[in-house]
Amino acid sequence: MKRHHITALLLLLLAALICYYSGRNFLKMHEEEAVYPSSHLTTKKRLSDYFPGLKNSPGDSSVYIFEGQKEGGTLLILGGTHPNEPAGFITAILLVENIEVKQGRVIIVPRANNSGFMHSDPQEGNPQRYSLGTPSGSRWFRYGSRLTNPIHQWPDPVLYVNPAGQKLSGTESRNLNRSYPGRKHGSLTEKIAYAIMRLIDEEKTDLAVDLHEAAPEYPVINAIVFHENSAELAVITLMTLQMEGVDIRLEASPRNLRGLSHREWGDFSKTHAILLETANTSHGRLKGKPSATLIINGKDKNYQKAAQLGRLFVPFDEDGIPLKQRVSRHLASLRALVSGLYELYPDLLIQIQNVPSPTDVEQAGVGAFLRPPK
Ligand SMILES: [Zn+2]
Repeated sequence: MKRHHITALLLLLLAALICYYSGRNFLKMHEEEAVYPSSHLTTKKRLSDYFPGLKNSPGDSSVYIFEGQKEGGTLLILGGTHPNEPAGFITAILLVENIEVKQGRVIIVPRANNSGFMHSDPQEGNPQRYSLGTPSGSRWFRYGSRLTNPIHQWPDPVLYVNPAGQKLSGTESRNLNRSYPGRKHGSLTEKIAYAIMRLIDEEKTDLAVDLHEAAPEYPVINAIVFHENSAELAVITLMTLQMEGVDIRLEASPRNLRGLSHREWGDFSKTHAILLETANTSHGRLKGKPSATLIINGKDKNYQKAAQLGRLFVPFDEDGIPLKQRVSRHLASLRALVSGLYELYPDLLIQIQNVPSPTDVEQAGVGAFLRPPK
């Protein structure tokens, strides 16, 4: 064998090795983290139970139903509409693993856009996973993308006209929160939206809450976004939270911005429609190096500087905005919403036990309330 043949062979081997390791790394994003539901879980369903068109597709996702012995209201909680907003997703997991419902029903979908959990935003350098320490052992969770995986929905149109008739840029065709009320024969993202609309109808949902996060420089933050059908509920919730010392603001859902959960759930179903936003440093454009630590501790010098210059819509100091604080905020808002619903409609009482208290979560951290890995 000549010398250049050996060099070529070695280079081929090296290329094969790189392909093997990068391919393995890529496929790891398709793995789903373990969830250990509370022993009080009544039924576990899938989104495809509400819309069979999602069956065996990457858009199908687990639906956890907790039913009390007495009749009351029905609450739907979505995490992971945007899989790069971990506080919503982790709040949903925390509830699935802890709660017991005594009256009414609570339905939780932690991975609303399951496909978005199966890839990462290109060129962002985000970690694929982050870990949270439980009382014994740590558990990993996926940090995904805002959008549906392009492997599952491709190509993007140049202009996207969503099911509600709004014209948007092409990539938004993979944004679940622009695809409501969904299309039965539409794209994967529109089918997920359609399945969620079917769930809201079939389960006779009284209150539906979509948990989100946004960059600290984004104006709609630490906010309750409400459909006009929920204006009174949003005001009562705001007052409760302010009395508890939680600084939060109200944002009315714009009537002419179509395709969003808080708009189309309210227009096309009987549910009260609410979206909650917390501030996620790892999401922002001003952040330094992305890392799993940044996702959890939310500390960043650039954001501290931006706050000093008055460029942010939330306070930001050297302590950052940690995940435990953002989850605690979502928990406090959910608690206030449920009590507000009861105040307005006494027959829609939803009694939930074993919800980790927002103060305890903020002090002890999220992992303290997650089940240890099996
Ligand atoms: Zn979001």
